[in-house]
Amino acid sequence: MIEIIGHERQRKLLAARPAQSFLFVGPEGVGRRAVARWFAYGLNCERGFPPCGECASCRLNEHPDYLEISPRTKTKTGQAARRPQIHLDQIAPREGAEEPSLIEWMQTAPRFRAKVAVIDSAHLLGEQAANALLKLLEEPPSYAYLILIAPVREAVLPTLASRSLTVSFGPASEEELRRITSDEAALGYSEGAVGRLLRALADPAGLAEVASAARDWLAALEDPPRLLAATRQLERLSGSGFDPWVFVARGLESWPPAYRRAALEEIARLREELSAYVSAELAYTRLALAMRRIYAEMRAGSPVSR
Ligand SMILES: [Zn+2]
Repeated sequence: MIEIIGHERQRKLLAARPAQSFLFVGPEGVGRRAVARWFAYGLNCERGFPPCGECASCRLNEHPDYLEISPRTKTKTGQAARRPQIHLDQIAPREGAEEPSLIEWMQTAPRFRAKVAVIDSAHLLGEQAANALLKLLEEPPSYAYLILIAPVREAVLPTLASRSLTVSFGPASEEELRRITSDEAALGYSEGAVGRLLRALADPAGLAEVASAARDWLAALEDPPRLLAATRQLERLSGSGFDPWVFVARGLESWPPAYRRAALEEIARLREELSAYVSAELAYTRLALAMRRIYAEMRAGSPVSR
């Protein structure tokens, strides 16, 4: 049975089947994939929406009419991909491919009533893959539904976005999340995202480690020579599945708005640089210097310089 917390408005909209292709946008962990699964189960349920949880289709854990495509994080030789991407052969047929592509999967009739394919991280579609997907979006079989998942609409190619109905997912309310847990550390980390809350509850020790590294980073602002090492440590921990900068951002909440904004911009810039493959060390150094400057300006009460 698929249990969903919140997102009533989105589910009501989907139950009316207003389109065959959708673009689900919202922050990571907010529940976009869970709602996509719920949609697939509802479409195939004997009793319609909401899925009953008891019919032949609802009882399946692995549903044959539901497919998720996500970016490949490994290269053919098994190494970590420099840039995760959804490749053409995941979308369109290719000779000798190990798995059927999305288009092949979509061509066969559903076992129940409707097929739902999710393109996870649609903003990481390669150009050829996106073009192949476009054809499917333009003329989907009558039983086919496509759900593109992305952080924001602007991140997806306009040709794909314009052919999909955008459904926005906002954070769940505090009240909704408190129905799951009263763990304050986990609730604080969730920022309204159920997926993040569940991840935090599953690994309290990991969460505590990341929170402590973030505190250490904030403390290093008083002791600039430590800032570079603290930044390195924080970024190392971001591989743990938790985002340490969330804790940093909360620590900055007590700062006057202008300085806080400048600091958050610098952190966002670090993210951009790392995803654009600027040398990590260079990016950390730049951040440490910028933070040092902003912190000193805040201390002196002088305006934020650029
Ligand atoms: Zn059912």
